[in-house]
Amino acid sequence: MEKIYTSTRSHNIKVSSKQAILEGLSKDGGLYVYDDIDKIHIDLDKIIKSSYKENAYDILSKLLPDYTKEELIDSISNAYSHFPDEEVTPVKKVGNIFVLELFKGPTSAFKDVALCLLPWLMSKALKDSNKKALILTATSGDTGKAALNGFKDVENTKICVFYPHNKVSAIQYKQMACQLGSNVYVYAVEGNFDDAQSGVKKIFTDEKVNDLANKHNLLLTSANSINIGRLVPQIVYYFESYKYLVNNNFIKLGDKVSFSVPTGNFGDVLAGYYAYLMGLPVKYFYVASDENNVLTDFINTGIYDRNREFKQTISPSMDILISSNLERLLYYLSDKDDKYISSLMNDLATSGRYQISEKMLKKLQSLFKADYVTQSETKEEIKQVFEESHYLLDTHSAIGYKVARKERDIIVALATASPYKFSIDVLASLGYKESDEFKAMEKLSEVSTRPIPTNLASLNNAEILHKDVISKEDMLKTVEKIING
Ligand SMILES: *Cc1c(COP(=O)(O)O)cnc(C)c1O
Repeated sequence: MEKIYTSTRSHNIKVSSKQAILEGLSKDGGLYVYDDIDKIHIDLDKIIKSSYKENAYDILSKLLPDYTKEELIDSISNAYSHFPDEEVTPVKKVGNIFVLELFKGPTSAFKDVALCLLPWLMSKALKDSNKKALILTATSGDTGKAALNGFKDVENTKICVFYPHNKVSAIQYKQMACQLGSNVYVYAVEGNFDDAQSGVKKIFTDEKVNDLANKHNLLLTSANSINIGRLVPQIVYYFESYKYLVNNNFIKLGDKVSFSVPTGNFGDVLAGYYAYLMGLPVKYFYVASDENNVLTDFINTGIYDRNREFKQTISPSMDILISSNLERLLYYLSDKDDKYISSLMNDLATSGRYQISEKMLKKLQSLFKADYVTQSETKEEIKQVFEESHYLLDTHSAIGYKVARKERDIIVALATASPYKFSIDVLASLGYKESDEFKAMEKLSEVSTRPIPTNLASLNNAEILHKDVISKEDMLKTVEKIING
């Protein structure tokens, strides 16, 4: 196996793509990256003539070279049989903006696109290693359900999800608390997403827990977007949206387009950057944030400063102050300088703040633009787009859409969740008050004259199976208990 992945914080660490997927996070706390990704060239001419699954194979085979052709094709066809459309991620023209619908999967969030595939990639890598895996995942709401759904009852795996107590939507809560499966564990953690995420990162680097897991022949790994197995499948839909634009004569092959991405942990937009490094013609990436606008400030000033109030908003999946995947972008922008990235991340850990060099900031700003949208603006945007185009955006996608209005040329706005997942707030944006999430869903369906996705409608009668609320200090103990069976 070719050891093509290295850590953002140390070039001495080298692993194969299967190992990188099995480990999730590098042992030094860094993230796995493929140094030569910018030397890969995806043939656009072939992309526009091929199906989603064929394009997925083309891209995955270049970034995950340890997998055999059969393994990849099997994984891809299993994963995307859970999507209703052959297109997987359809594009709709809404006003002058092209909306890339990423929420057609089994849990109605864009995370499904990667999390339907990751369990297949993981179990094939596990087969080679003769181990079992315990997947630990922190979620701001959507990753949790998508990961639980993807990994439930998958052979040789257990999955444990931590979500911030009372900080996910009522639907997100029900989706996770009602999860069936013999290998699933779900916990609410007192704190916010950043607490849950740093708790999980601590467990990965804790020697004692790792030794204990080893004794049980168990690997600890992650289904968060720190895992390259999460990122790689997301690259595909950037190319797919480009295919749509060319094939419908909105652009010519080779023309540049922009993307507006509702951002939290910086995974989705980073996948777009990877597509760009592999040859996708991109003018700008617009990083769209909610009131937790740490990335807006960073991209505009070069100073990342998480020392600010955490705001709980109507866009909970974007309520994040530490955007983990930014580390990968900085790695490439610094010309793969592991020492420099280590020192920045050390600054972040000790003071909650770092500043990049002037040269790097210029490079960053030549491709990335950033803005944020307040909660009242988000609601206004949902209403306006519905009135103008009879199209319903959810509370995350509306942020991307509003920021996309800044671009005069062709722009794709990524729609990351179904509006029914955030029914109360979407409905309120249209001027209707309803505090019951399921009644709100029905009303929304009536107003929009579109059906509720069946996975969400069926939650109303589902039984709550997971009730535990734990402190962030108890996360480690909880994982030890799961390991000990
Ligand atoms: C996770 C999520 C985001 C943010 O994506 P990142 O990859 O974390 O930047 C945006 N919208 C929704 C609905 C999400 O679930």
